[in-house]
Amino acid sequence: MFGYTVDEMMGKKISYFMDEEGIKVAAAQLENGKSGESQILDSRFITKTGKVVWTRMSTNPIFDDAGIYKGALAMVIDITKRRHDEELLRNSEAFLEIKNKELELKNQELEQFAYVASHDLQEPLRTTSSFVDLLQKQYSGKLDEKANKYLTFITQSSDRMKVLIKDLLDYSRIGRKKELEQIDCNIMLSQVVEDLHKLITDENAVITSGPLPVIQGYSTEIHQLFQNLLMNAIKFRKKDVTPRIEISAIQNKVCWEFAVKDNGIGIDEKHNDRIFIIFQRLHNRTEYQGSGIGLSHCKKIVELHGGKIWVKSTPGNGSTFKFSISSKQEGHVPLNADANGSGKNGKAIKYNHVY
Ligand code: ADP
Repeated sequence: MFGYTVDEMMGKKISYFMDEEGIKVAAAQLENGKSGESQILDSRFITKTGKVVWTRMSTNPIFDDAGIYKGALAMVIDITKRRHDEELLRNSEAFLEIKNKELELKNQELEQFAYVASHDLQEPLRTTSSFVDLLQKQYSGKLDEKANKYLTFITQSSDRMKVLIKDLLDYSRIGRKKELEQIDCNIMLSQVVEDLHKLITDENAVITSGPLPVIQGYSTEIHQLFQNLLMNAIKFRKKDVTPRIEISAIQNKVCWEFAVKDNGIGIDEKHNDRIFIIFQRLHNRTEYQGSGIGLSHCKKIVELHGGKIWVKSTPGNGSTFKFSISSKQEGHVPLNADANGSGKNGKAIKYNHVY
């Protein structure tokens, strides 16, 4: 291991094969160990060519028939590579930890920025809106058609900006009030369906769901997540086709996997990532109302719950939005195996509830 011949080693003290650091390691270990007891010692040696070798030595005491300690039997193995790998691992873990902290700080900064920006933008916007209001009221009948049209444009734009700023504010507020709760997703979904009652009946949407789990989560956010996905599934319906939306969940090893499946217009695969970016939309406002923030809300909410969100879709043939929620913390309740089949071990659940 050290590159010496036996003759070269014989008669030398063990410290001869160590540098200062190795001697320190050995001294610390000798202090802890007692002769006559089995020991495992990790030592640092220097080879004949000056390379560092780490060894693990297991020693077992040898006693004579009278029980007197005679010495030890030692087995030495080279653990240089293992130590090196462990160090690399430690370094990469430390590096990851630093990067995570940096990322957390950046996120906080970004959220702070979005909050302050959107908050402060409201004031000048309010002033613009109120002066346009005054103009329209006090100069009613005194302005020509063109001027009135321009004023309407200003009002419409400021209304839109109000919505954008509110969306941005809401986005920056997601997860601010962090109180984990047990959430029965079956109850949560029925509340969302109740809230969307008008939209659902206006559009004749049929919503079905399988048994959903009880999770640990942030209830306002989970409510919003279901609501956004349901509203989109109804909004992006196919013309003259009854919107059918199926909500289901399966249980994987470390997370719940939810699916919200619709039979709407679908999405081209090339937009699968873009749609989750803030204010990104695939349609203009005259086709479908919206500001393009709903799915970025969903993404932020899901990530807050240690999960991911993604979509599988075929244009013209409906979309399935899937998201996972980490089930690692305590408080998650496994799905009941009921008459409709088990939700465990990745098996799909049959739909059992029609709203
Ligand atoms: P918005 O609904 O305000 O446009 P979102 O962030 O919720 O914003 O959605 C972004 C885009 O993703 C939508 O403009 C739409 O093009 C697409 N999209 C979202 N949900 C669906 C769906 N269920 N079916 C088809 N397209 C969808």
